[in-house]
Amino acid sequence: MPQLLAESLIRDVPDFPKPGILFKDIAPVVENPAAMKEAIELLAEDAKKHHADAILGIESRGFVFGTPLAMHLNLPFIMARKLGKLPYERYTEEYALEYGTNTIEIHVDSVKPGQRVYIVDDLLATGGTAAAAARLVDRSNGLVVGFGFLVELTFLEGRQNLLEYPVNALIEY
Ligand code: AMP
Repeated sequence: MPQLLAESLIRDVPDFPKPGILFKDIAPVVENPAAMKEAIELLAEDAKKHHADAILGIESRGFVFGTPLAMHLNLPFIMARKLGKLPYERYTEEYALEYGTNTIEIHVDSVKPGQRVYIVDDLLATGGTAAAAARLVDRSNGLVVGFGFLVELTFLEGRQNLLEYPVNALIEY
């Protein structure tokens, strides 16, 4: 497969946000409409293949890819947000990050029972965030049908945390 436009645009920033972390900066991808179009179309093909009927994005870079994906597919977009941001009744899941810990939440009525949910984020690292998002969908009695990422850091073996699910990453490092 030819290199994606997005791959040529991702910027490596060493030692951010902590020494030893090589941060994959996707800002130049988001700033390039052709790269975004290509990425969203590829994620849409995957979500369609799994017969998704909702897209869930993980705050905040998951929103950047998840919202246009949901609109492209004419599907609902569900927000998984960081602790304390959602106003209504919530499900809450904690997880460990590559750097630090975090908590994400969804509204209890966002995922409908039996809904086929495709989960989107910019990057798969250890898979802790993605696995927590899947637990939120489970607790809502939805069905996780797959995961879509722009980037996967394969050496962190995040897929080991998502063994039950199809995982698609457009760019692997
Ligand atoms: P994880 O839970 O370890 O899979 O971490 C995934 C989340 O952290 C994603 O939302 C990414 O945006 C962010 N993240 C983790 N590691 C990196 C990295 N090296 N470069 C950019 N973003 C990262």
